[in-house]
Parts: sequence; structure tokens; C-alpha cells
Amino acid sequence: MKAVAVSPQERSVALLDIDRPRLARPGDVLLRVLDVGICGTDREICHFDYGTPPGGSPHLVLGHEALAQVVETGAAVTGLATGDLVVPMVRRPCDVAECAPCRARRQDFCTTGRFTERGIKEAHGFMTELIVEDAQYLVPLDPALREIGVLVEPLTIAEKALAQVWEIQRRLPWGRGGAQPGHGLNAVVLGAGPVGLLGAMKLRAAGFTTYVYARTPAPNVRAALTERIGARYVSSETVAPRDLPQLAGSIDLVYEAVGASQVAFEVLQHLGTNGVFVFTGVPGRKGPVSIDTDAIMRNLVLKNQVVLGSVNAGRDAFEEAARDLVRFEELWPGALAQMITGRFPAEAHGELLLGRAEGIKNVVRLG
Ligand code: BGC
Repeated sequence: MKAVAVSPQERSVALLDIDRPRLARPGDVLLRVLDVGICGTDREICHFDYGTPPGGSPHLVLGHEALAQVVETGAAVTGLATGDLVVPMVRRPCDVAECAPCRARRQDFCTTGRFTERGIKEAHGFMTELIVEDAQYLVPLDPALREIGVLVEPLTIAEKALAQVWEIQRRLPWGRGGAQPGHGLNAVVLGAGPVGLLGAMKLRAAGFTTYVYARTPAPNVRAALTERIGARYVSSETVAPRDLPQLAGSIDLVYEAVGASQVAFEVLQHLGTNGVFVFTGVPGRKGPVSIDTDAIMRNLVLKNQVVLGSVNAGRDAFEEAARDLVRFEELWPGALAQMITGRFPAEAHGELLLGRAEGIKNVVRLG
């Protein structure tokens, strides 16, 4: 069967013919992969900046944002049946007894670095026709989400981030209360890619007044989507980071989804009192940039600010993302589908992974 894989040694990306997987353990599930989303991480892996094949394998099958359908379940699997839609989680725990997060199934907080990630780090990914996965890493999905379920994984980044923000902000009376916890608070999202736009949806649904700060001036599809969900699109070509507070008021939350450190640290200097800045991007290693560390440190202390980094996600974030896609679809019918700007066969992998990144979210349709 077909699989899109990268070979770091040969420095190649290719469509391979690999063996069909089989159920090996009673808890296993055989899945037909329907859609796989492509993100910046996949492109970095294909430029050999990131990613590691499993031990003993010359290649790494790509893909970590997947939507799949159950084909067959092992004898011990309950709660999943043939035909069900599921999203597989990405990270698998390390095997070190002392790693408390991994032992508590919170491998997204693994302390040893010996976790694996499907399609990224020492475990094959999902960009192939069939996969076998342990049922404990599968999150069931409403069948109505067939066309947009592939967005669950990128949405988990916002889910995990926001869950932590609420935990942190229990330190003070934050917001105005009421049904929407973000009501009366201002959030700025950095970047209008899929992670940024899904984050903006999450923030809007939570009641935040939300600004999406991105490079390209409006009008463009990203700006249109931003306005569609009741957020405001601001181009960095017309508004400098220092002018953001004038436009947005005190910035209570920044959700960084741009992966560019310079603009992120510039905006950090304008975070408001008691504000939280969440980093989710993984920038490539460019040269050092100069930033005003005194200003940042003074603000952190005198304004009770928090800077938070957040990677990957646990099961609760995947389950919340699966519920939120249904909510977002009710709030803004059709908006999620508009984020998927291209669907391609596996044969188009070269252009998708190595060519110019066009559109918002590109998806490889396997099933
Ligand atoms: C994935 C995460 C992963 C991270 C770092 C992201 O693109 O969505 O699951 O933890 O890359 O490897």
C-alpha cells in the first residue's frame, strides 16, 4: 500500500509501497486513513530540519494530523465499531518508570524526552492507506465531521493552551464572569495560519474580544475568515506591535501561532497587566535577534505577567477539540470547511511538502 515517507539519510521524500499492517495485540484497531493534514512541522521534516525515523528504519512515514475510519477491532477493544470515525493522538509515552507524566498518560508533559510522536519522532505517521493503533490513543468523532475532522489535531494546540490559561488565571479575579469566561477580556492571536485561526475560533467561542495579527494586509481569505467569526484582522504592515494596545486595549492574552520569534517578543513587550502570553510555534534556528530584555523583565514583574510554552496535547484536549468542531460549526456554519483550501492525492506530496506553501490547510485525501 502507498505511504508518503521521508528518508533523512538519502535526503529524499517519496511515495513508497509498504506492507499492510495487521492487528498484533487485543487492544489494537485497524484503521483506514481518510484525510491527513499538512503543517509546518511536516514541511520542516521534509527539509531535514526536524523528525527522526523509528530505530532500524531508513525512512519515516509522515503525517500526524489524521482522520481515520475503523476497519477492524481487536478482541479487547470496547466502544469502537467498524465504520466509526476517529482521530489518533500524536504522542506516545516514554518507558521510564520515574516519568510521572507518562505514567499518568500525560505524555505531552514527558520529562525524559524519550517519548515518540507518530509521523515526527521515532514512530511512523499516518500518511498511508491503513494503520494499526492502540485503542487508547483513538478519539471518537461525530460522523457529521467527515469533511472537517482532520482539523481536530491542530485545534488541540489551542485546547491545551486555553485549559492551562484558565488554570493559571485562577490566581486572580479575571474577566467579568458570566456564561462566557473570556467576556470582557482582549486576546491577540499572532498568525493567521490554521493554528492561529482555530485558536481565534476557540477564543471567540469563549467570549474574548479577539484580534488576529498577521502580515498580509486585508482583503484576503484569512482576513475574511477572521471577520466571519467575529474577530478583527490586523495587518502588521499597517499596525506596529507597539500600537496594538491603542487598538485593542489592554492585552490580556496573546496566543502565538506564527513561529517567528522576533515579532512574538516585540508583542510580548506590550502584554497588559496580569496578562498571559502563550507560545505554540517552533521557530527554525535563525540568527540572534535583539530585544529589550529590561523592558520585558520589568513588565513581567510589575504587571504580574505569565509566559507559557505549550506543546502537543493530552487526551482531554483531543476530546474537547472533537466537541468544539461541532460547536464551531453551529456558531459559524461552513467556516471550518473554508479553512481546508486544498485536497490532494498522495501523488501530489512533492509539491505539497516541498513546494510553496499555498492556501490555509492542505489535506492529503487517502480514503
Ligand atoms: C504537532 C505536535 C508535536 C509538535 C512537536 C506539532 O506540529 O502538532 O503534536 O508535539 O509538532 O513535534
